[in-house]
Amino acid sequence: MKKIAILGSTGSIGTQTVDILPSVGAEVVALTTNKRINLLEEQARALHPEMVCAFDEAAARDLKIKLADTDIRVLSGMGGLTACAAESGADMVVTAVVGMVGLLPTLAAIDAGKDIALANKETLVCAGELVMRAAREKGVQLLPVDSEHSAIFQCAQAAQGNRLAKIILTASGGPFFGWTAAQMRDVTREQALAHPNWSMGAKITIDSATMMNKGLELIEAMWLYDMAPEDIEIVIHRESIVHSAVEFDDGAVLAQLGLPDMRLPIQYALTWPQRAACKVPRLRLAEAAKLTFFAPDYEAFPALGLAQRAAAQKGDRGAVLNGANEAAVGLFLAGRLGFAEIAESVARALDAIPCQKELTLDGVLAADAAARELVLAHSPI
Ligand code: NAD
Ligand code: MG
Repeated sequence: MKKIAILGSTGSIGTQTVDILPSVGAEVVALTTNKRINLLEEQARALHPEMVCAFDEAAARDLKIKLADTDIRVLSGMGGLTACAAESGADMVVTAVVGMVGLLPTLAAIDAGKDIALANKETLVCAGELVMRAAREKGVQLLPVDSEHSAIFQCAQAAQGNRLAKIILTASGGPFFGWTAAQMRDVTREQALAHPNWSMGAKITIDSATMMNKGLELIEAMWLYDMAPEDIEIVIHRESIVHSAVEFDDGAVLAQLGLPDMRLPIQYALTWPQRAACKVPRLRLAEAAKLTFFAPDYEAFPALGLAQRAAAQKGDRGAVLNGANEAAVGLFLAGRLGFAEIAESVARALDAIPCQKELTLDGVLAADAAARELVLAHSPI
């Protein structure tokens, strides 16, 4: 039986991973959370991992007391998260934490030779070059969980050694599809958190509203599939049925379709190359009736252009883009920054922080820190 560690098991992706475990037949050896220790305790009692981690130190102290009657090791902080990734007996690590906090544990897991089911897109956005190189050197599989990247991966299985000429990355368009920049300027947290098709964690939901999520996914696709950013086309597809597509040199386009439900891409990352019965509802095309596609509005959603720029420049630009975005989204969620100021903050960071072309891990961490600092320094409140 495959042994898995789930980093971020209490989040949206994490709980859906736990939900599909019976169809995968995997044994869980590690679980982690930031602060949601009641849910983590529940999961730990049901799944009996070797070790668990609460990133937050105070939460970890409380979790230790809760699990005192078990033989489960309770860890904390980055050391604990990294131990769950690299020192548990896992064959595969599901990285479902949110944010670039996932980078070091992912690199540690790769270094320990573990396959990765990657949901944590920020890791590839910040350090795709380093992560892909490490995975190649260690011969580990990096299996995408993000629905678009899973779709591309599934379609690419038909390539039989032929190159992908193009990736067609679909986007729902989020809650503000069709709005102008002026209409969006002062939307509230609640408006931005109301995603039409997907129920997800708060950070990615805001990223979907600004469309930075699609920008991050463009960079993620560039690294995963070794594609030039100009060969990745973003297309708005309101129904979220076509999860993405690939085009070959002869013009053939292959897409993967399904209802919007993350459990299928999560499960496929865990069972690949096999497929297993999955509990998600089935797509009935006659019921879907109509699939619509539009070109994105780059003016209304400046985050898309910023991500394209960072993708083209490479080096530490992904880390700056991502660090500034994480800080700005955090401020927006805390009511300390306006909606339009999220992309403005990212633009300012890309302009102000000089580009380092040679990428090292220290360079990624420095670029991330500089970007966050810059955004916080400009925060009006
Ligand atoms: P979420 O906020 O629901 O869950 C995040 C998890 O990470 C939780 O378990 C939380 O406790 C943990 N966590 C948060 N901050 C942490 C920290 N500082 N240190 C350690 N752990 C921390 O997020 P989510 O929606 O599940 O997204 C997780 C990742 O998957 C993100 O990178 C997101 O972009 C990606 N993703 C999510 C979806 C989705 O449908 N939710 C789809 C595609 C990709
Ligand atoms: Mg996605």
